[in-house]
Amino acid sequence: MKSKVIDGKAIAAKIKKEIAAEVAAMIDNDVKAPHLVAVIVGDDAASQTYVTSKENACRSVGITSSVYRLESAATEKELLEMVQFLNHDPDVDGFIVQLPLPDHIDTDKIIQAIDPKKDVDGFHPENAGRMMLGLPSYHAATPFGIMELLRRSKIEVTGKHVVVLGRSNIVGTPLSVMLSRKAAGADATVTLCHSRTANLKAITLQADILVAAIGKCGFVTADMVKPGAVVVDVGIHRVEDASKEKGYHLAGDVDYKQVFEKVAHITPVPGGVGPMTIVSLLQNTLAAAKHSIYQE
Ligand code: NAP
Repeated sequence: MKSKVIDGKAIAAKIKKEIAAEVAAMIDNDVKAPHLVAVIVGDDAASQTYVTSKENACRSVGITSSVYRLESAATEKELLEMVQFLNHDPDVDGFIVQLPLPDHIDTDKIIQAIDPKKDVDGFHPENAGRMMLGLPSYHAATPFGIMELLRRSKIEVTGKHVVVLGRSNIVGTPLSVMLSRKAAGADATVTLCHSRTANLKAITLQADILVAAIGKCGFVTADMVKPGAVVVDVGIHRVEDASKEKGYHLAGDVDYKQVFEKVAHITPVPGGVGPMTIVSLLQNTLAAAKHSIYQE
């Protein structure tokens, strides 16, 4: 029987083992380990934490990882030069520029400067466009991870009504495309909601699968959810909590306690979508090293 809590941490651990086995086989065959570079500009605490988690995840599967740092005052030109350097470094299979960037740097310009063949975040317009057309591409890590989470949890998606809350370029919009494509593990009917959606609750109550990616802590309450639905919570929020050593605990966009009682399956925060996002980046890096998306 499928458990009620969709355990992203356990599923991610299983995928990591699969990746580690592939990397070990590459090394056995005298092929160098995949190499991922993360570029970080400035000293944003959350970005540092995300990059450290990515480094640890790489290490755990045998992927080489490096971090290139620029000070927060670095110019757009300096960052563009670093991107060009990485585009041409044959030792680097894929790289990411950790977002958000300081306000004086045009994020779109930086993303568009990345060689699509090394764009393992899947944010470059070429990868986003190819994904939309169903062509081989790097898929953005969070929606890619959610698709894998649903597939490996054996949650039926075909023919279901999926309501996605949030239309960001990195989560909601690409996820709505992936779910609605004519493909195995997809074929859903998708409604994409945002801050201008009228009668939101009337729509969420129709969802067989409800994905919350709006960045508002505890926004989805039990009265917004159909009994027996599947709920995927993408949100990550630090909630002050004096009882915890760190002084906070993590929570999502869903009021987990209330909603849990009503649904068939739900992802927790932490331990749901988050671990799958990191593992998707590892999958993309492995694909980059194997040239399995863009053949040379
Ligand atoms: P984002 O760029 O801030 O976009 C939020 C989206 O939610 C927008 O489309 C916005 O609509 C919509 N929205 C805001 N208020 C709403 C409301 N009251 N009703 C309906 N829609 C509303 O968010 P994001 O980058 O996709 O991130 C969403 C959340 O996921 C954040 O908590 C983030 O930290 C988390 N996240 C987690 C992971 C992970 O690995 N677990 C990865 C990425 C993000 P408009 O377009 O109209 O403004």
